[in-house]
This record gives sequence, structure tokens and C-alpha cells, in this order.
Amino acid sequence: MKALTDLTLTEAREALLNKKCSAVDLTQAFIDRMEKHKDLNAYITETPEIALAQAKESDQRIAENKARPLEGLPLGIKDLFCTKGIRTTAASKILSNFVPPYESTVSQNLLDAGAVFLGKTNMDEFAMGSANITSAFGPVISPWKKKSNPGKQIVPGGSSGGSAAAVAAHLALAATASDTGGSIRQPAAFSGLVGIKPTYGLCSRYGMVAFASSLDQAGPLTHTVRDAALMLQTMASHDKKDATSLNVKIPDYLSNLSPSAKGLKVGIVKEYSENLNEDAQKLLQKGMDWLVQAGATIHHVSLKTTSYALPTYYIIAPAEASSNLARYDGVRYGVRVEGKTLDELYENTRREGFGEEVRRRIMIGTYVLSAGYYDAYYLKAQKVQKLITQDFENTFKEVDVLLTPTTPTAAFALDERPTDPVTMYLNDIFTVTVNLAGLPGISVPSGVDNDGLPLGLQLIGPHLSEQTLFNIAAVLEDAADFKKHIQIGE
Ligand code: GLN
Repeated sequence: MKALTDLTLTEAREALLNKKCSAVDLTQAFIDRMEKHKDLNAYITETPEIALAQAKESDQRIAENKARPLEGLPLGIKDLFCTKGIRTTAASKILSNFVPPYESTVSQNLLDAGAVFLGKTNMDEFAMGSANITSAFGPVISPWKKKSNPGKQIVPGGSSGGSAAAVAAHLALAATASDTGGSIRQPAAFSGLVGIKPTYGLCSRYGMVAFASSLDQAGPLTHTVRDAALMLQTMASHDKKDATSLNVKIPDYLSNLSPSAKGLKVGIVKEYSENLNEDAQKLLQKGMDWLVQAGATIHHVSLKTTSYALPTYYIIAPAEASSNLARYDGVRYGVRVEGKTLDELYENTRREGFGEEVRRRIMIGTYVLSAGYYDAYYLKAQKVQKLITQDFENTFKEVDVLLTPTTPTAAFALDERPTDPVTMYLNDIFTVTVNLAGLPGISVPSGVDNDGLPLGLQLIGPHLSEQTLFNIAAVLEDAADFKKHIQIGE
């Protein structure tokens, strides 16, 4: 048998149910490995005692034949899901002392399913970023290495970079993540993992530290499509505590999973396939070939609003963020920096408590919402958002899914990262549109660039097409046989 930490989530579930190992052994193996790989900085807070106590209870339940769907399976939880009694920071100094008195719905669903929590994973501060370099707790390092220069530290992608590095380095079987403009799919692509951002409203946002509420969605980062199906069906639920939660029955994605693309109409978006670099172009062509071999047909479509997506996102997301982050004032919770007057206390707290990228977003957001500019920026952006959504709706009358590269390039080295924010924002050029339209999107690891670093293909479907996406993603997964590229060792 493989090392316990090398198992996928679904394999580990089998192993536990067939009594090949105990939940305590499995959990201990992950705790030991987390200890060995602290240099990746994947976790902000580790919770080994809690994990072992949960695993002990799981062993008891398994012995009594009372196992729940994720019984005894050790996971990483992105540090923006509030966890009762466990510090939750959103990787910000301003929340560095915040211990939530309540549990997020997503993490509660996982606990109710018997999962074991290894700790809270690192992330970009308030989920703002694409490389996990804005965390107040330091950057996260990917376990992947460039062939040409193995000494270079590679970024895992962001904002869910800690979750991505934790899963890729086998420091958790799977992890939760969140995606406002690409933060599940982009780190999935950079780190050789599967990541799905579900339809807006499928997972409850209750207890998730808010970034841009109309775009934020939870989802998993996993080794395989099957693992992603199992995680998502557990994380998702209708929740009265979130007014935007969808009241739909959550399918058993895993039992219903059947790799298939027969008769499927796959759209290739003109605007997403122009100006691709050679690696991305080759990958997209491979993806098309794999789906055609599986019985799909290719259709060339155009999403004319594409070039407006990033500017629209960078008005709407900061606008909502500036409003959401107004609550961090040093009075109610979080870090406080005193001042002579109340205004000075606010200013000192927010100046010291927020990092540079967060302050930049608050400034932009406040500006686009201000009285003189609201119509010119925010209202206009909302109108464009509507057009982007209509563009997708029209395209889905012609095709079943869209196939795109997840990111324009593979991951970059920490010391070669773009220094200007706008270049960094371009990482999400293929992912933000999906959030603006509230659609589901999945990234599947599909190949490597000429330096051996992972590349992902993204599938985008209409609202609530998660099952179809899993089925097609499984076709890509089988064809790509990504396992052969994995270089993670000891
Ligand atoms: N990289 C994008 C941003 O910085 C998206 C982040 C996210 O999805 N949370 O806003």
C-alpha cells in the first residue's frame, strides 16, 4: 500500500472503511508530514490535538459501523472559514487575535460528515491576490520545482495558496478554498490540483470572512475529480442563514459520476484563445483532441464582452470589499491601535491592521462608490456585468460547456513575481468572468510547461451544471494522466 499521506481522499475513505488503517494513524501521518514541511508555510494555525481527538471519535464510529461520509478524513480549512474556538485570521494582522464564537456553515457541514481538521491554511490577506504573497503571515511556497532551476521558490497561486500547497505537498487529503475571481481555480492550475468554483449560492457564505459578497463562493481543492465531487457534495447545502443560498437539492455527485463527453458540444472562446503563449495553446489543443476522441464536437464561439471583465471585476470587487471591510474598526473585534480621538483610533487601527493590497482595494472601492463617481464607475460596471452574464447565457444556447486554459501561464518564482498590481490582476483573465456571471467552473490539471510546472484546463458550464462538469472533467483527467508529471517526494 502507498504511504498514508499519498492517498487521495476517496482512497483514504476506502482504506478507513476496510480497516486498512485507523483514522488516528492517518491523522498522525499528516501531522508528522506537516511538521516536516513547515517551510512551505501552508498553515497559519495547526490544530493537531483537535485533529487527533476527532480522529479518535471517528475510529470509534467506524468500529460501530456508524461512519459518516467523510469519517476520519484529515482536511485543511482555508483561514477565512470561521471555526468555533479556533483562531480565524483571513491572513490579516487586523484579525490576528480573532477567535470566532461560531462555525461557518461549510466547515460545520464537513464536521457533521465526520471530517478531521488539521488546521487553518494560509491565504492572501482577505483573499486578495493571485500568488499568496499578501498574507500577513508570510508567503506560501509551492512544493513544485522548476526543472531548469530547482532552487527557486515557486508560488502556489492565490488566494487559496495555503490550501493548494497543503494538498499538493500531501499535508492534507483535501482542503476548502474560496473563489471571488479565480482563487480556487488559479491555485489549482498552478499546483497541479482539481479545483471547482460552484454556481453562486450552492455553498453557504455564512461564516466565511467576506471579500466581495456577490462573487464569493466556497469550493474544494483536491487531487482528483472524484475527490472534488465528494468534497463539494458535503460542503454545499441550502442555508437559511445566507439570503443568497440556493434552495436546491444537492446531488450525490460522486455516485452519479460517469466520465463522459459523448455528443457534447464544447465551445472554444475566440477571445480566450487569441494571444495565448505556446504552452497554453498546445494545452488547449490537447484538451480539444481529448474531448473529440471521447465523442464531443468543437464549436468556435465568441464572448464579445470578455475584454471588459477584468476592469468590471476590479470595480465591483473592491467596491464590495470596501463596504465589507468597514467593520474592522478596532472597536468590536480584532486588533486595536489606540489613538487620542475615536477617529484617530480608527485610522491607526486600519493603517496598521491592513496590508498594502487590502488598503489599495479599500481606496479604489471607496472611490468608485463615492457620490460623484458612483454612476460613472460602479453603476456602469454593474451594467457591464449584466452584459457579460447575457453573453454567457446566449453562448450556452449553442454549446454545453466552454473549454479554456485556466491561467495564461504556469506558476512563477516568488522572486520573479510581477511587481505592479495590474500585471498580477491579469492572472485571472480567464476566471473572473465566471464569478461575474455566477457560473460554475472547474480546473483540471492537464499538463506541464517546458519547465515541468503544472498547467490547468478550465471547463465552464451553465448554472447548476456541476454534475456535467465533473463528468467531463473526469474525461480530461483520464486522458491527461497528470499523475506522471508529479514530482513531489519525501
Ligand atoms: N486574484 C483575484 C483578486 O485578487 C481573485 C481573488 C479571489 O478569487 N479571492 O481579487
